[in-house]
Amino acid sequence: MYESPSDLKRVWGLTRHAALHAACLLAAHPGLVPTSGRRTAQRNRAVGGVPGSLHLDGRAVDFGGSREEIRAALSTARAQRVTHGCTGPAEALDEGDHLHVAW
Ligand SMILES: [Zn+2]
Ligand SMILES: [Zn+2]
Repeated sequence: MYESPSDLKRVWGLTRHAALHAACLLAAHPGLVPTSGRRTAQRNRAVGGVPGSLHLDGRAVDFGGSREEIRAALSTARAQRVTHGCTGPAEALDEGDHLHVAW
């Protein structure tokens, strides 16, 4: 299912820029499923997120998927540029059971 940047922005509370990246990543890797976007401080603590996590700012997204999909999506995310002046992800981490990317 195609998820547009505006859907991602609305559903996951992402910044416009992060939503644009997330939509491109999902288009390239349809097996990925977003599992976490913007978090409240309380929610972030409950899931063991680091203090100052970019999830608090709506800049980070976690994606579930197969190991193969996560590995492939990590390299796509690192190479992906969506706007003029875009310098790529601030964070791109293979967390084993999910991919964490922040823009
Ligand atoms: Zn960017
Ligand atoms: Zn994360």
